[in-house]
Amino acid sequence: MRSHLIKADMTEVYPSAVYGHGVFIYDAQGKRYLDGSSGAVTASIGHAVPEIIDVMTEQAKKISFVYRSQFTSDPAEKLADKLNELASGRENDYFSFFVNSGSEATETALKIAIQHWQEKGDYRKNKVISRWSSYHGITMGALSMSGHIGRRERFVPLLESFPTIASPNCYRCPFHQKYPSCQLMCANELETAIRREGPEHIAAFIAEPIVGAAGAVIVPPDGYYQRVKEICDAYDILFIADEVMTGIGRTGKMFAMEHWGVEPDIIALGKGMSAGYTPMAATLVSKKVIEPILNGSASVMSGHTYSANPQSAAVALAVIDYIEKHDLINMAEVNGDYLIHRLKDVAHRQPLIGEVRGKGLMIGVEFVSNFLTQLPFHKDVSLTNKLVRKARDKGLLIYPAAAGIEGGDGDAVIIAPPLTIRKQEMDLLVDLFEETIKEIQRDLHVQGLV
Ligand code: PMP
Repeated sequence: MRSHLIKADMTEVYPSAVYGHGVFIYDAQGKRYLDGSSGAVTASIGHAVPEIIDVMTEQAKKISFVYRSQFTSDPAEKLADKLNELASGRENDYFSFFVNSGSEATETALKIAIQHWQEKGDYRKNKVISRWSSYHGITMGALSMSGHIGRRERFVPLLESFPTIASPNCYRCPFHQKYPSCQLMCANELETAIRREGPEHIAAFIAEPIVGAAGAVIVPPDGYYQRVKEICDAYDILFIADEVMTGIGRTGKMFAMEHWGVEPDIIALGKGMSAGYTPMAATLVSKKVIEPILNGSASVMSGHTYSANPQSAAVALAVIDYIEKHDLINMAEVNGDYLIHRLKDVAHRQPLIGEVRGKGLMIGVEFVSNFLTQLPFHKDVSLTNKLVRKARDKGLLIYPAAAGIEGGDGDAVIIAPPLTIRKQEMDLLVDLFEETIKEIQRDLHVQGLV
């Protein structure tokens, strides 16, 4: 019978997932898949964890939903306190606005940044600078801030044309320089863009601490974010860290921005915050940003029906509790070091791999047609799709990503298993991944493409 479900790719026949356990997912035929990407870098504590199921059941027995303009709730209050405890640093206290997806979290960040300036009497600061290799979400505001060409191109006439700058990418430096002699041209370009537009028109700069879907894990060089924050502060521009993919332990720190000791003005969270157990995301707003709003209209001009519902808040609290109790942030670092090391070994044997990079358990693998020249494959080869499908046939799930070549070409995947993954499971992941690459290499050879 014809399916009435609109799926990600309507030409594809997807396996039907029936149950999950730890790092594995099983389909209706009983086939097992190693979840090498936590779905879309989301299921960070693995599947069907009993402690989370218990909390879900207990909360559902009490109350699942109340509306934000009628009630607060204990789980929502506790979650906001917990996030503040985790995020607050030297300077900042953070206040949480809960939403349901990463796109809503960045969209809300955009609105709060603009509202912040309005409440201070400044109605001109309403543009956001972002980077070309970036993905901040699928809704129109979030997409306006995103450089992901594939996801933007159909809607470009409807999007705001916000200014963009180059992304830091030492593998393919947009300025053809080498670090550190480059003196961080990529960070300094922010200052050029601000001056070109006029700082009086810029509300904020937004960046993923480590680029995810639009760059397959681009880790900036040391000093980059320190310089970016310096520039933002000098021109009175808010710094939004989109930690939707990197946040809540994924990179071996609770927030990736801790790697560089920089405190953002606004933080967007999603994905790992509820580890896939419920739709839940948040916009964390520093005291400095929220204060003019509290002292002004006293209401953030945004919100969704499900914002701060007690069911999702209880689940997110339980997930964060689980991460802390099981020392999973440390595990992300330890496991990540091992997995990156093993994948770099694979790269030495497999010339299709251009680079393996990452932090913690957020790892990118970029593919090239020529290892020495770093030339990407032509789009028509559709290498990323081939890799992802072949890996899935073998029982390994990996996440397709753009390679971070500005202009949108290139092939790459993200490997980001649950933080709970064990050594033998990582070994299995690497074996399946290498087998996949070998077979693809053979196919490309037969077609005369390598
Ligand atoms: N920001 C980043 C950095 C992301 O990786 C994503 C999702 N890939 C989003 C925002 C959007 O999140 P969602 O898909 O939950 O709307």
